Amino acid sequence: MTFQQVKEQEQFIIHTYGRVDVALAEGKNARAWDVEGKEYIDFTSGIGVNCLGYSDPQWTAAVSAQAGKIQHLCNYYYSPENTALAQELCEAAGMAQAFFCNSGAEANECAIKIARKYGEKRGACRIVTLNNSFHGRTLTTLSATGQEGFHKDFLPLTEGFLYADAGDLEGIASLLDGTICGVLIETVQGEGGVVPMDAAFVQGLRKLCDEKDVLLMLDEVQTGVGRTGHFYSYQGMGIIPDIVSSAKGLAGGLPIGACLIGEKLRNILKPGQQGSTFGGNPVVCAGARVVVSRVSDPTFLQTVREKGKYLSQRLESMPQVELVRGQGMMLGIKLKSGDAHDVLIKCAEQGLLVLTAKDLVRFLPPLTVTREEMDAGLAIFAKVLETI
Ligand SMILES: *Cc1c(COP(=O)(O)O)cnc(C)c1O
Repeated sequence: MTFQQVKEQEQFIIHTYGRVDVALAEGKNARAWDVEGKEYIDFTSGIGVNCLGYSDPQWTAAVSAQAGKIQHLCNYYYSPENTALAQELCEAAGMAQAFFCNSGAEANECAIKIARKYGEKRGACRIVTLNNSFHGRTLTTLSATGQEGFHKDFLPLTEGFLYADAGDLEGIASLLDGTICGVLIETVQGEGGVVPMDAAFVQGLRKLCDEKDVLLMLDEVQTGVGRTGHFYSYQGMGIIPDIVSSAKGLAGGLPIGACLIGEKLRNILKPGQQGSTFGGNPVVCAGARVVVSRVSDPTFLQTVREKGKYLSQRLESMPQVELVRGQGMMLGIKLKSGDAHDVLIKCAEQGLLVLTAKDLVRFLPPLTVTREEMDAGLAIFAKVLETI
């Protein structure tokens, strides 16, 4: 199939994505090939999803084997892949229980339902989120998203969300008036432009939430599963949240979401109060088990921090780069001049796939990216920056 044929079929898809003219057919770790055989270095990993890169042998074998055994069963029966993943994930996260669903937005929906149920008896149903946040595209997670641009055209949204500024502990404290059941934040705002929160702010929020009996909810959909160099980012901050939402990289490229809760919320939802037909599907869980076992290894996490540092240092030494921010292998690159989206297009032409976030270029390479792949990608990036 040629790219032109793919492009013609696009008319059958609702045009909700501003797509780049690249159609990938195959990949190996951080390298991919398009339908016509052109090679790319991929620093997107599908927005932080393919954390073990493309076609990792152990992951591929686990997923294929499970597909050939039992591909799906309904949640009225037990699946050993599902229960094993729950235990392994809770142990890696330091949490008590998991609910499995299929996406980040659904994981946040579940987190919001749990928080509402927690506050229900005392009439605390509202949730504080941050300006510039991103929590998903369903109507309720859109409402949780503190960016008006995403709300426009879809009103009315779900009631009960208040927005505060990142870092503003006093402002948040003033909102906690007894009607609030939870505070939901990203520790590094991904879509908002790779904006890391201060550890002191997150720690202060933990304390404040404890004092006010409000749940601290972390949206780790993008930051989680090794991305920041910790299995979950809070594990590098010395705090434990009450609720964690996870998705993107969790199953290494298959659709999954997980809402994790701490001991104090054990069994808060009762049979019939939450569900998902596909949630916890055994093929997806088989892939996720490989991811959790590999990525939660401290040696692996150490390599993520080292590679993130290497990428940042190399990027900071490029004369056109104003600053690099983020954590681990979640990096935002602010350029002194030029448009980030133009850079993305030029990179694709030259064989490097990158993302943007607001006015920054964003790198989310597979966590398994090799030094050779990083160098190949950086060389293309440097060449493109010389042309802007
Ligand atoms: C991507 C993302 C979501 C939404 O996840 P979907 O799987 O697209 O529903 C939610 N929160 C954060 C922080 C994200 O980065």
